[in-house]
Amino acid sequence: MSENDKARTRKFLQLMFQDYYRTHHDTVDIPTKVQNREFGMELWQFTWRCIERIEKVNGSERKVGCGKSGTSYARISSCPNCGAKGIQINNWSRHIGFRSKDHLLNELVKTVPHSIYHSAAFYEVPVARNMMEKGWKGAELVFDIDADHLESPCAYEHDSWLCENPQCQTIGKGPAPEECPECKHTSFRTLKWLCDKCLEDAKKTTIQLYEEFLLDSFGFDEDEIQLNYSGHRGYHIRVNTPRILEVDSSARVEIAHFITGMGMNSTIKADGKLRVVPSGDLGNWQIPSLSRKIADAMILFIKRIDAYNGNDRWVEPLSENKDAAIMGLSHDPPILSHKVKGVGPKSWQTIAENALQNYGAEIDLPVTHDIHRVIRLIGSLNGKTGFAVKEISRTELDEFDPFTDPLVFSDEKLRISFPKRPIQVPKIRIADQTYGPFNNETVEIPTPVGIFLLCKGMAVIE
Ligand SMILES: [Zn+2]
Ligand SMILES: [Zn+2]
Ligand SMILES: [Zn+2]
Repeated sequence: MSENDKARTRKFLQLMFQDYYRTHHDTVDIPTKVQNREFGMELWQFTWRCIERIEKVNGSERKVGCGKSGTSYARISSCPNCGAKGIQINNWSRHIGFRSKDHLLNELVKTVPHSIYHSAAFYEVPVARNMMEKGWKGAELVFDIDADHLESPCAYEHDSWLCENPQCQTIGKGPAPEECPECKHTSFRTLKWLCDKCLEDAKKTTIQLYEEFLLDSFGFDEDEIQLNYSGHRGYHIRVNTPRILEVDSSARVEIAHFITGMGMNSTIKADGKLRVVPSGDLGNWQIPSLSRKIADAMILFIKRIDAYNGNDRWVEPLSENKDAAIMGLSHDPPILSHKVKGVGPKSWQTIAENALQNYGAEIDLPVTHDIHRVIRLIGSLNGKTGFAVKEISRTELDEFDPFTDPLVFSDEKLRISFPKRPIQVPKIRIADQTYGPFNNETVEIPTPVGIFLLCKGMAVIE
């Protein structure tokens, strides 16, 4: 693929996206308190700057660069004006703010980004360049469930890697290895794909997180939780309710640890009742059934205490008084039975930590505690696929089809070309048909499929 072909393709995609934004004002979801959010855009165009500077060559100094700047659809590496190498190139625009819904909608039609994100946080001055000046005023709690992190087995069917050592160029299926089995080289070009199976895994994890943790353990209401498909390989969940907004970063870490089964940093107060005291500042937020969840994990752990390998002081007394301990923990609220003699507060704490590590429900995902993170704007298009970032209700999620429901372009035919590659482009199911695999060919294909393959960087527009 020549840089020219790629530039032409980017321009074409931008025009297609523009049509969408022109006609879909109502689909774009304007986040609450839009004037307090920071926005960031990844652009189809690159901005380049040719900085005037002095370079030393063989002891003598010479002036390099012309000081000009401009934009380009091609990823250029030297200045179009003076030919100097080492220009600065950038396709991101950050620290953007919008006063109203109309300003945001106008910007989408005017700039037409590849992807648009907004902060989960609210700021006094969202457009300020640094965090101090921005003035943090709380943040939604957001979760990003991406097939990438779930290591679904289908990666071995559709992902591949190519060793970047020019003398080797070994190809393999699945995630890239640590080092090339042939030449021990450690850098690879990778092709990551998506299919029904990995997106089904992402959906299951999303439902588990939603039901088991957000509703059951944390006690949020359905109307405080917003769900959306990311437009690529996963789903997002955002919790926006007054009692979560000011929860600080360390308490968010604690929530994350709890969900991923890494245990709690909480202190277990063993004053008869099992009381869970989180170490972070949860503000007004109470986690209603957290003690229940921990107690359940402890019950499972105690039931299997004889299989526990440690030789801690509490193992024997706990093993001897299993039934009393389990009975106490089954109470509502759970009780740390005084009949379990020889097990003090410190020991109960260790038991709880062990129990959570072994039997705490866990979700395999990196939960962020970043209070400054950004998340895709609902209703925008994802420039990696051309699919819409689509809001879905919990009931819609069960039936949601990520390869049909977020399509926005008409079925008109598009002519696209695939260059010759060492690895063929895997097949993809879109709506009710499967397309591909492709390699070294030109095809006419329905627009949503064509746009997907162009966005993935697999083909160029004819
Ligand atoms: Zn220049
Ligand atoms: Zn190799
Ligand atoms: Zn897959």
